[in-house]
Amino acid sequence: MKTKCPNCNASLNKVEVKVHGAQNKAISYQCPKCDYFEFEQNSSQKVIEELRETPLKIRQNIIKLSQDRLGIYFNQNVVRSLSLKNGEEIYLSVPDKRHIVLEIKEKEEEYK
Ligand SMILES: [Zn+2]
Repeated sequence: MKTKCPNCNASLNKVEVKVHGAQNKAISYQCPKCDYFEFEQNSSQKVIEELRETPLKIRQNIIKLSQDRLGIYFNQNVVRSLSLKNGEEIYLSVPDKRHIVLEIKEKEEEYK
């Protein structure tokens, strides 16, 4: 990693940049004299990976299961990323008229 500005040869300042939605900070090197700056590769890569893992929003249709019961499917991506299993218990709560929250029971150590 360069510590001198390639434009004016001044010492670069290390600055942590907070990215919205990410815990990791991207590290940048900024020149105090001119406006040169660069991002440190590893740290910015971590931020990008972290953002990629942030909440999923999937559009789904409600299906009819039986006379008075409706359901939704969990697609393969959801099943895999949450390690859902057939017969597993989940808690459903309805905080308001526009949200259904599903909470997965804490998994036993042996299932990890
Ligand atoms: Zn400079």
